[in-house]
This record gives sequence, structure tokens and C-alpha cells, in this order.
Amino acid sequence: MKYLLLFVVVIVGLMLHKKQRAARHAVASQAAQARRLRAPEPMHACTRCGVHVPASRCVWDAQQHPYCCAEHARQG
Ligand SMILES: [Zn+2]
Repeated sequence: MKYLLLFVVVIVGLMLHKKQRAARHAVASQAAQARRLRAPEPMHACTRCGVHVPASRCVWDAQQHPYCCAEHARQG
């Protein structure tokens, strides 16, 4: 009888562990999907050479013209 109780406790523990792991995996999967579906970053053509650069990496001059690098921004 003692072993039966031990067996039941082990089985319930394994089931709970498996359930928690599945929940963690689902959350991680949803986060990965959200990253994939995130809106793409706008691109801007460099005013000097025309190379397209993500908005976050553009160098902007005083007139808000986008440039691919500081050198092209300086050259105008
Ligand atoms: Zn450029």
C-alpha cells in the first residue's frame, strides 16, 4: 500500500511537471511569433548615395534628410 501511494505521488508530480513545461513552451512560442510578426522597420534612401538604410540607423541632418553615414551627412 505504501508503494502504491508513492507511485501515485510520483505520477502526479510528473504530470504537473509536464504541464508546467508545456505552458512555458507555449509562452515562449507566442513571444517568438510576436517578434516575427512585429512591423518591419521603415527604410530611408540616403540623400547622398541612395543606399537604403533602416530608420534607426540613419544619420539625420538639420533639415531632417536621411544619410547612410556621418560622412555622407557631412558632405550633404
Ligand atoms: Zn550614403
